[in-house]
Amino acid sequence: MQTEWVQALPRLRQQLGERNFQTWIEPIRCTRDDHGLRLEVASRFFQEWVSRHFLSCIRQTLAEGAGASPTVRIVVVARPHTAPAPIDMVPPAAPPRPLAQRSPRMGHLVASYTFETFVVGDANEVAYRAARSLVEAPGTRFNPFFLWGGVGLGKTHLVNALAHELLQRSPRRRMACLSAESFMNTLITSLRQDQMNAFRERFRALDVLILDDIQFLAGKERTQEEFFHTFNVLYASGRQIVLTSDKPPHAIAELEQRLRSRFEGGLIADVHPPTAAMRISILKKKAELQGINLPDELAQAIAQRSGRSVREMEGALNRVLAASTMRDLPLTCATVEQVLPNPVSVSPPVSVEAVQEAVSQYFRLSIADLKSQRRDRPVTQARQIAMYLSRTIADVSFPSIAEKFGGRDHSTVIHAVRAVEQRRSQDPDTGNLLSRLEDEIRARQRV
Ligand code: ADP
Ligand code: MG
Repeated sequence: MQTEWVQALPRLRQQLGERNFQTWIEPIRCTRDDHGLRLEVASRFFQEWVSRHFLSCIRQTLAEGAGASPTVRIVVVARPHTAPAPIDMVPPAAPPRPLAQRSPRMGHLVASYTFETFVVGDANEVAYRAARSLVEAPGTRFNPFFLWGGVGLGKTHLVNALAHELLQRSPRRRMACLSAESFMNTLITSLRQDQMNAFRERFRALDVLILDDIQFLAGKERTQEEFFHTFNVLYASGRQIVLTSDKPPHAIAELEQRLRSRFEGGLIADVHPPTAAMRISILKKKAELQGINLPDELAQAIAQRSGRSVREMEGALNRVLAASTMRDLPLTCATVEQVLPNPVSVSPPVSVEAVQEAVSQYFRLSIADLKSQRRDRPVTQARQIAMYLSRTIADVSFPSIAEKFGGRDHSTVIHAVRAVEQRRSQDPDTGNLLSRLEDEIRARQRV
């Protein structure tokens, strides 16, 4: 760093205020070349903002220090590029960084929610891969990244993992990871204290904005309005936006259309309840994190006696572990049965066969047509819808669905599910049709 710059910093801090200083001045790297001082910044947006708002003050402050006006330019310097790693490669855990090296950040990350502690399987593989790929090129192809799924299925875990990884690669990245509710509370406080400029500057200076549980914004018009502008500024300057929700964008009631279409413009991925095999792996992993080696049959016993979400499974595991420690019980199946007396009765799952039956009847086709190689439009459309419903309401894995549709490749199913998802989000008629079919299949199930 150039000495004149370092000497100017305390005065800039004084003149611009702490918040502006931290947001706009601190991240600048000052070097010198033949033309004078170079203030290096990370993006065009940053460059424009600093030029417009602070350059004259910077020039003046530097001139006061040096006794003469130095030539100062603000230049955009591309961030160091990291070579893409294979998607499934788990990077070695890095030692924790000292606090002082970290950039100021909004919200907080849960230390244990990393990619390493996230169990990947059929139920969440697409979302996991998307998060991994995003880390390789934030702000580009997967922007915004919209992750949705039921409560306790790992959304917050996955976006925290993504945040940790982004910070590990580039600790000075400006990142906010917070719930939509905190976003709103911060907004309300800023409005009350007449600090809206500061609020906007803070959010619009971010490299990465992660907003968790966006469904909370439903019906909160003022917050949506503010978020819309923040979103646009970040998006336009290539900053990454990550959103989570308990529903897909089209199903969030009272969400302004313009926000909805922004969300749908990026990558949408969902997480499903874990499959039986994943439930065992997750329980073993959670026990391992507490230094306990959980045998398969115990994991199985706990899995059978806890609810569908990972959060409920974790609760059940913790109850067993706590009882075994406090009551000094051995870790056995008998203990599990004692602590978790009732196997959880989960309502019988909808089967792929039931979906095929309902869909074929609706489209006046035969089940054999759905499984056949026919490629004419009515059949393809019905088949895609049946595959989609097999995934979303029967909750069967991609390979098993592929198997039950005439032994196709499972990438065909992934493609079909995405295609229908997209149609559903864009076309209200498709949405209505799917809702009717869903109701019909569930109603038959109850009989
Ligand atoms: P959500 O945000 O979707 O409601 P969370 O991310 O808070 O769910 O997950 C709830 C709990 O389940 C967390 O403790 C999280 O670590 C755990 N969890 C969820 N999915 C997984 C997974 N695939 N592997 C490991 N832990 C998981
Ligand atoms: Mg969450």
